[in-house]
Amino acid sequence: MTKQLFLFMKSSNQKIPIHFPNGIELFIKRDDLLHPIISGNKFRKLKYNLAEAKRLGYKKLLTFGGAFSNHIVAVAGAGKEFGFETIGVIRGEELFDKIGENPSLQFAHESGMQFHFTDRKIYRDKTSPEFLSKLEQMFGSFYLIPEGGTNDLAIKGCKEILTSEDKNEFSHICCAVGTAGTISGIINSSSENQQIIGFSSLKGDFLSEVICNFVQKKNWYVNCTYHFGGYGKVSEELIDFLNGFYQETKIPLDPVYTGKMIFGIIDLIQNNHFPPNSKILAIHTGGLQGIAGMNHALSAKNKKTIQYND
Ligand SMILES: *Cc1c(COP(=O)(O)O)cnc(C)c1O
Repeated sequence: MTKQLFLFMKSSNQKIPIHFPNGIELFIKRDDLLHPIISGNKFRKLKYNLAEAKRLGYKKLLTFGGAFSNHIVAVAGAGKEFGFETIGVIRGEELFDKIGENPSLQFAHESGMQFHFTDRKIYRDKTSPEFLSKLEQMFGSFYLIPEGGTNDLAIKGCKEILTSEDKNEFSHICCAVGTAGTISGIINSSSENQQIIGFSSLKGDFLSEVICNFVQKKNWYVNCTYHFGGYGKVSEELIDFLNGFYQETKIPLDPVYTGKMIFGIIDLIQNNHFPPNSKILAIHTGGLQGIAGMNHALSAKNKKTIQYND
């Protein structure tokens, strides 16, 4: 199976350059093109976990996520493709009869994922031994994948994002940060003379502490400025930016992670944060499946939507 996984992963090294004044170049690495459904970093994070689950003889994967989670969709898609049953523990009891209105849950459901909806209080405590044993009583034994997919095997997979060329050619490497598995893998595989910048998709500045648990190097920091109000929140300015960026580059960005990161990088470039001739590599970690759900929510409030039409 690992061999099969490798086959899918060979063509992701497309890098699109954008030129700025002072010799600054921004390259976008299209890791989102790795796989049509198990997109970008979620594939990287699942790769060694799926191999381990198979090695240990598990038939079922169980994981956690919110209503529009890229990770839930990726696990559902991976289960279908690589022969595991999948269980998604979903935050929000009220969603149980709204699957049809939610493109992400709809997709996961069609891929065969079984759902268990919980209220927010139980969800917060989802890794307690009591709750996990309750899940085991309900579903039988399963291979547990954490929320967002981050564990040591996920970080191992994310070490494969940078090629040896990437480690030599770029002065700065940027990625969006949620549970910090992706940036940790990138830091662990980076060159000491590169600076790794994480763009937090969450409000608050607790992510550096999380990253410190996974890395030894010091060549990184997290920028916490461009969260646009918090996880999953968007503004009209961000939507206009996404639509404009697509018109200019034909690169679709997602509104939760990569859109905020690219907005942030361009803002920092324009404020002379980067030295002249910097070569910046931004990782497109995927997440495009979430656009349909975001647009659905925006339309319901009569707000501008993301439009990636030519
Ligand atoms: C999940 C996700 C991230 C965050 O990755 P972490 O490893 O959780 O920090 C970034 N970008 C996209 C598109 C994602 O789906």
